[in-house]
Amino acid sequence: MTSIDDFARGKLAELEARHLRRALIPTLREDGVHLLRNGRRLVSFSCNDYLNLSRDARVRAAAKAAIDAHGAGACASRLVTGDHPLLSELEARLAAFKGAEAACVFGSGYLANVGVISTLVGKADLVLLDELVHSSVWTGARLSGAKTEAFRHNDVGDARRLLRERRAAGVNCLIATDGVFSMDGDLAPVGALSALAREHGAWLLVDDAHAIGVIDGGRGTTAGHEVALQMGTLSKALGSYGGYVCASAAVIDFIKTRARTFVYSTGLPPASAAAAIEALRIVEAEPERVAKPLAHARLFTRLLNLPEAQSSVVPIVVGEPARAVALSKALEDDGFLVGAIRPPTVPPGTSRLRVTFTAEHGRDDIERLARCLRIRMRALAA
Ligand SMILES: *Cc1c(COP(=O)(O)O)cnc(C)c1O
Repeated sequence: MTSIDDFARGKLAELEARHLRRALIPTLREDGVHLLRNGRRLVSFSCNDYLNLSRDARVRAAAKAAIDAHGAGACASRLVTGDHPLLSELEARLAAFKGAEAACVFGSGYLANVGVISTLVGKADLVLLDELVHSSVWTGARLSGAKTEAFRHNDVGDARRLLRERRAAGVNCLIATDGVFSMDGDLAPVGALSALAREHGAWLLVDDAHAIGVIDGGRGTTAGHEVALQMGTLSKALGSYGGYVCASAAVIDFIKTRARTFVYSTGLPPASAAAAIEALRIVEAEPERVAKPLAHARLFTRLLNLPEAQSSVVPIVVGEPARAVALSKALEDDGFLVGAIRPPTVPPGTSRLRVTFTAEHGRDDIERLARCLRIRMRALAA
């Protein structure tokens, strides 16, 4: 028998040897773009606060006012005593913004995917996932007990093949994809997947965690398409915390009655709801701000002759984990924070830098990053 500490130490040593151990590094954010880490001031190209709303004075004021009026926490599950009117206001705003009948807010995007998927499908059903879909979607599918198959990334033909071969194996069938892929920054073919779902009597879930506030005037990748389940997070471009799903009124009522991560978890704090409501208002009122993260990402991909950015996320795939970590460290020496992403977050052999762009990045910051990156990549190749 192994003691629990020896077990953990053994696992950590094994991960360390493969450059896969992860560490938390104390980091203070100074403004929308700068942060303090290891005693140094860095320009961050690794935050998901794409519109810099987490620090926006209006968003902070809304959160503070909600705390002063309603306290710090929701105090119970919403079905018990925690259903603050701010939460239904937020849901009404989200539904209107996403062009859906209704919405349900969860404690996080992760909890939304886990709760929604495991509530809507079960053992008798089939789930088809894009192979690069977010971890929370996989977790929901596994927890549901449904037969689960992955189709090749963004390959509608492969999804069609799986539907032809396997559709009869499920009473109901859910197709799930990210709208913007979190580690690749590319967009799902939402229109084609929507048509495919209709053709085969399947339901489509699109996870727009990185798309709300950024893509298509901020409405996301689902705008203009028929998508049964429009999922997303309040924690990235909206600068707050929490997750949501928008759907028909019947589906949302069912989710609110049965989704375990909703029923058995405390409601979102009033401050998070108030911050998200104000952030949504800003997204609708300030299209210039919404356009900036993508414009900045495109400036960067132009400077480096990379394929044109499709979202605010740009990957630079370098292969082995040690290379990604070395490159990230070198850029930190140059004054930038750019995250190194390794397995199991991405498939083996595709470790990468993940560069994210926000509205408040300056042109000079972006040009300097491109210059430093080119020099560092050349040094690493030599
Ligand atoms: C971040 C993310 C989530 C989880 O959202 P949280 O609110 O951070 O829990 C879900 N899906 C995708 C694609 C994400 O990038």
